Amino acid sequence: MSRYLINQYQSLEAYVPGEQPQDMRYVKLNTNENPYPPSPAVIEAASREAGRLQLYSDPVCATLRDAIAGLYGVKRENVYVSNGSDDILNFAFMAFAGRGGKAYFPDISYGFYRVFGDLHGCDYRTVPLEDDFSIDPAKYHGLDGLIVIANPNAPTGMALSVDEIEGIVRTNPDHVVVIDEAYVDFGAESCVGLTAKYDNLLVVQTFSKSRSMAGARLGFAFANAGLIADLDRIKYSTNPYNVNLMTCAAGAAAIADNAYYMANCRRIEATRTDTAERLRALGFTVLPSKANFLFAKSDRVDGDTLYRELKKRGVLVRHFNTPRIRDYNRITIGTEGEMGILVSKIREILG
Ligand code: PMP
Repeated sequence: MSRYLINQYQSLEAYVPGEQPQDMRYVKLNTNENPYPPSPAVIEAASREAGRLQLYSDPVCATLRDAIAGLYGVKRENVYVSNGSDDILNFAFMAFAGRGGKAYFPDISYGFYRVFGDLHGCDYRTVPLEDDFSIDPAKYHGLDGLIVIANPNAPTGMALSVDEIEGIVRTNPDHVVVIDEAYVDFGAESCVGLTAKYDNLLVVQTFSKSRSMAGARLGFAFANAGLIADLDRIKYSTNPYNVNLMTCAAGAAAIADNAYYMANCRRIEATRTDTAERLRALGFTVLPSKANFLFAKSDRVDGDTLYRELKKRGVLVRHFNTPRIRDYNRITIGTEGEMGILVSKIREILG
């Protein structure tokens, strides 16, 4: 830290992203990336746009927003796009909680929520998950601030139903409810449809997981036009070109190729079912996941040891050294082949 950093940020604990090691090739099951490549049309669109990089991108992102709106049956004014969904979540904490504003999210969830809360000086409270790691929706009824829930939740993978979410949105009419659907395409129910009915619901999604574009940085969100205009106000006050030229075109091409991506999601779900069975057969407790990862603990090896022993053997998973979950590891679903390697390395470690 330099002596110039202002007080406000001196105690800020930054988010620690999962490792992206450059030293060797790992079986990389630690950051919930999609194991399948972008579709050929997406690669073609990004390459084509690379030849026009001297120009700024369209700040309105009209083509991309229209493509998303068409697929999801909403209007352009109901769609927001940004530089990864982290960007949107950041703006949501800034716009709908802010300094001293109240915010609520689960105690075990996406680690960035705390960081955004701290960054913007929000007065946030965490709401404990139940003993089985589920979210009790009743704990979010009638609160007095911004509510942020990942559905499916991370790192548990467990999901709420649309009815349960609707109960939360309905009982908090004076506050924004953000539903972070980063993993929704892997088998959970989306509540995008509820945005037509409630003006306090912001549904956030991403191209990083189900659409194999983590490196392109593209997040999107659905809400009534008022909330989208609020996000736009912040975007135009920070970085109007927050989605670059290549990513804009790649995103629109990915939407046009939706069937390719949804087929990959179904394949990942099948691999998830198979991997969960194999881990349970080895004595693991595996939470019921609707995401592209499993959250699992062994009855024979502690979470940190398993993480380290797997890394030594060239397999990266994500371990969180925090209360209640340090026995677990979060394991991204890769290809069938990659999961075969994971299971065989685990067998070796268990002896
Ligand atoms: N929400 C959740 C729950 C996540 O796990 C992630 C991925 N780290 C994100 C949002 C952010 O994804 P991105 O910024 O790549 O869209």
